[in-house]
Amino acid sequence: MTERGAVSSQCPSCGSSERRPYAPECGHALRECLTCGLVAMEHLPTAEEVARLYRDAYQGATAGYFAKAEKKLRRSRRRARTLFRAMGARPGLTLLDVGSSGGFMVEAARREGFTATGVEIDPVSVDYARRTYPSNDYFLGTIEAFAAVWSGASFDAAYCSEVIEHVTDVNGFVAALARCLAPGAILFLTTPDIGHWRRPKMLKDWDAFAPPSHCLYFTYRALAQLLAKHGLPVERRLFNWKPGIKVLARRR
Ligand SMILES: [Zn+2]
Repeated sequence: MTERGAVSSQCPSCGSSERRPYAPECGHALRECLTCGLVAMEHLPTAEEVARLYRDAYQGATAGYFAKAEKKLRRSRRRARTLFRAMGARPGLTLLDVGSSGGFMVEAARREGFTATGVEIDPVSVDYARRTYPSNDYFLGTIEAFAAVWSGASFDAAYCSEVIEHVTDVNGFVAALARCLAPGAILFLTTPDIGHWRRPKMLKDWDAFAPPSHCLYFTYRALAQLLAKHGLPVERRLFNWKPGIKVLARRR
């Protein structure tokens, strides 16, 4: 975990030290990598600050967020089906949902035929998931903590939607996720796309621009380089009309 105040001189995605201040008018210290286009907060929050942020953020949003459970389940089922087919639609497939929130994808994946496990740092969300969708397993903690206790590279598929932009140690995060996956496993990952042609010109007008909760803003190139570095080369980029990146990556 990066200490508060520590300024990394290198881009966390591609390692380049060619970086410059980005959009200073927005009032946040951001840096843009001139090689891959990743925009990152200069001073990343500490682990304690992140924990506080999520406790507050989710407790404030829980009622409204979980009220849309049926809609979330439907979207999750479409994505679970894509993953199930990509893995050959055979019985006994397992899925890991990193940042599983209220358990919608975990439950959708179970209904498509997976045995699914959720990993989530927010206790309110894990409690909701356990009560609402009790047929699945949920782990309360970080993916790094889960990978440390999980026995080996065994999951056939992983899902990580709108999570990676929150992560302060993104290399530790992706490395831990990769460690849990079997060779040939598929990862479905989504995150906002700062390089998208429909992203509002003014950062403050973009609903995904939300520092300090969103501390990383990926271009497709930055995301693909980061994933490839950890043995997860992108196999397919899915079209997205909205300013977001959607990819399927395959574990080497
Ligand atoms: Zn870079």
